[in-house]
Amino acid sequence: MKIKSSVCFDDVLLVPKYSNIRSRKDISLGLCLKNVEGTFSLPIVSAPMDTVTGPEMTSAMSTAGGLGILHRYNTIEEQVDLVLEATALQPDLRFGAAVGVTGDFKERSVALYTAGCRIFCLDVAHGHHFLMKDALKFLRGAFGKEVHLMAGNIATLRAFNDLADWGADSIRVGVGGGSICSTRIQTGHGVPTLQSVIDCAISDRDVVLIADGGIKNSGDMVKALAAGADAVMCGSLLAGTEETPGLVLRSSGGEPPRKVYRGMASREAQKAWRGKVGSVEGVATTVPLRGPVGNVLHDLEWGIRSGLSYTGARTISELQSTATFVKQTSSGAMESSTHIMNKV
Ligand code: IMP
Repeated sequence: MKIKSSVCFDDVLLVPKYSNIRSRKDISLGLCLKNVEGTFSLPIVSAPMDTVTGPEMTSAMSTAGGLGILHRYNTIEEQVDLVLEATALQPDLRFGAAVGVTGDFKERSVALYTAGCRIFCLDVAHGHHFLMKDALKFLRGAFGKEVHLMAGNIATLRAFNDLADWGADSIRVGVGGGSICSTRIQTGHGVPTLQSVIDCAISDRDVVLIADGGIKNSGDMVKALAAGADAVMCGSLLAGTEETPGLVLRSSGGEPPRKVYRGMASREAQKAWRGKVGSVEGVATTVPLRGPVGNVLHDLEWGIRSGLSYTGARTISELQSTATFVKQTSSGAMESSTHIMNKV
């Protein structure tokens, strides 16, 4: 058996290139989504998880120029209420909502469409699946070109092309890389997210590629975009901000307040949303409270802008055509870190 090698974010660096960009303000990060009017000025999408994207996150993402996807781990009525709450918070809101590919997904999609949803995220762990094909067919048949269909997650070029041919307008690429994910431990399956992006980016299909899972900082975002992603999806980078759903946990010992961040296939999340536990492929944890998400998105945006300027690129497509990667060793990765912090 031939075994292919792969790279993950920390295995590579982008080589700095000649730049004639005077200001990072001259860089455009615009993202267009098929069947959606206008441009998203920030190519960041918040993950459809119950500790990441509710109405407040959706509104904050839209304000920042990005996109929030309301999670689906609730009843149809509850999810529709999330949509209504979000569009009351902000009438010109651009948002998406997640649905599954089995169970109540047809009724859910119709209810979401009636409530104003036009970006549907077909959100399953293993998206290269016949049920995904049927679900894409159903949604396209029901709503035609009035809706944008985001599908995933997948890890290979074959899967990317199949989902594109089945009708997806954008595809979430990444299996097993999420910070709260235990899929690779539980099932032995997955591909490093950056490698999947590199593999899928050679597709000739006209579909938006969204890198998803394991993005730890703006540097990883720039690497994903340079490798061929049009946008990135984030969970942990947004977790703990004021706009995430969930209670603020305060201890009596005076430690800083925290919030829950959990994988949707964690034992805790499965129990909460469907009252039973199947294969556990995620973990639940708490993270420190981090203030408004707008500040986090501002830092990420300026990190991405700076990243493009190091390659001398004014747009993401210029970045993709100009960028070159080098591999780094584990001592290189150590040098790439803020290593003074390792000295006590
Ligand atoms: P993060 O940005 O590294 O925290 O990863 C977030 C991504 O992990 C989400 O967008 C999903 O694709 C994925 N994810 C969410 N919940 C789970 C889970 O329980 N198991 C595996 N992957 C998950």
